[in-house]
Amino acid sequence: MQSSLDVRNPATNEVIGTIKNTTPDDVDLCVSAAQEILPVWEKTAASKRAVLFVNAASLIRSRVDGLAALLTTEQGKPLREARDEILGSAHVFEYYASVCGSIPGDARDLPGYGYLNVVRKPLGVCAAIIPWNMPVMIFAWKAGAALACGNAVLAKPSKTAPLTIIKIAEALHEGGFPKEALQIVTGSGEQTGSALITHPDVRHISFTGSIQSGKAVSLQAAPHLKKLTLELGGNDSFIVTRTADIESAVKAAVRNRFYNCGQVCTSAKRILVDEHIAEEFVHKAEVMLSGYVVGNGLEKVNMGPLNNANQLALIEAFVEGVLDRDEAQLVYGGKRLDMPGNFYAPTLLKNVSPLAVSEEIFGPVMSVIPFGSADEALDIANSTMYGLGSSVWTSEISTARRFAEGLRCGVVWVNKHLTLPPEMPFGGVGNSGFGRENGRDFVYEYTEPKSILFG
Ligand code: NAD
Repeated sequence: MQSSLDVRNPATNEVIGTIKNTTPDDVDLCVSAAQEILPVWEKTAASKRAVLFVNAASLIRSRVDGLAALLTTEQGKPLREARDEILGSAHVFEYYASVCGSIPGDARDLPGYGYLNVVRKPLGVCAAIIPWNMPVMIFAWKAGAALACGNAVLAKPSKTAPLTIIKIAEALHEGGFPKEALQIVTGSGEQTGSALITHPDVRHISFTGSIQSGKAVSLQAAPHLKKLTLELGGNDSFIVTRTADIESAVKAAVRNRFYNCGQVCTSAKRILVDEHIAEEFVHKAEVMLSGYVVGNGLEKVNMGPLNNANQLALIEAFVEGVLDRDEAQLVYGGKRLDMPGNFYAPTLLKNVSPLAVSEEIFGPVMSVIPFGSADEALDIANSTMYGLGSSVWTSEISTARRFAEGLRCGVVWVNKHLTLPPEMPFGGVGNSGFGRENGRDFVYEYTEPKSILFG
């Protein structure tokens, strides 16, 4: 195994940093340090923890320009999106400041038995395994929830986007979080990730990534009987009914699908449009895309590169495959761009066969699928192993309710898509994983109840 790993700028392919590929022995030292701080950290008053979150959020906000530029340089997204993500992470930490004093418990008289007291205890050392697409936000969700409940966290970023997370953790330490309670453990999934997952003193693993890696993580964790939260991929449908405000729907679909170069778990990956308005929808989307500027995210662009060469190859193969098999018609884009980084043109496909997009397409491809009836739209939307999010676009409350009831997924939006406030529980059903982040549900993931019965 390599002792260090290079981090590259996806817009230029230049090396911009190097991280340690942490070995199992070093992971062991990190876990021991976390174990040692736990008795002190879990007894720290919630009001004190809240202050630390507020301090860190304020430092992050004051450093937003530098942090956003670093995020763009390692991840590829346009600066505007990187700023949103950095400020969004500060907001998540503020949310955890506001809720860490309200971890629920229960106290009841049980006639005939005694008096019941239920307190929720932290789990201990938790591992957070993070992907490269929204690295800072996903780190904030996991670290915020775990620390708010009194756990220690060892966070492993993806090897292709670790640098900004390291800087965000510095802000948390400067804000007052003990270094041992929050540690960033860099390295590959195979070496560092596996060492964290199989370490006997790591009691909880919160993993966000692909289904394939999620299965590998589950297999490694099973013999150790560990608690798991899995946030896996998504294949969200974005359903545009005949009563939708088509202008708003097109704008939202294009902005959403090409946000972060299409590399978002809840991106609108399958655009289902009523057949009566499908051509108009496609035409308006094409007009919008023809004005899209693609380039280095540090410049004034609408879309940056894909994060890594592997993603670029997958997208290229997908588009070539569906066109060769006549499973879709190309309207716009459809090619790699002749630039040094991992650039692919924003691509619009119409009349896409639902089967052709049954797998998640994690890149800048908008697939429009026409449908004839609400039943057909629901069948198509639910005919996937994923179940993360979906949206319905309509001006009729009855249609909104019908889809909200019928869609099999963890989040349904009505006349919006992708918005994920920290107050809202987030997670999937089916192969999109299990467990929830944020909302009030974080408590169930990061604590365990202890029942005390007084006689
Ligand atoms: P990935 O699964 O390749 O890697 C995710 C993380 O897991 C990385 O830190 C990686 O090093 C680590 N890892 C990989 N294999 C491992 C193993 N066997 N043991 C331990 N750690 C391991 O995913 P990615 O390519 O970084 O991210 C893209 C995927 O993530 C997409 O499928 C996307 O939909 C999904 N995703 C899901 C959500 C969600 O909340 N549901 C959010 C963002 C991304």
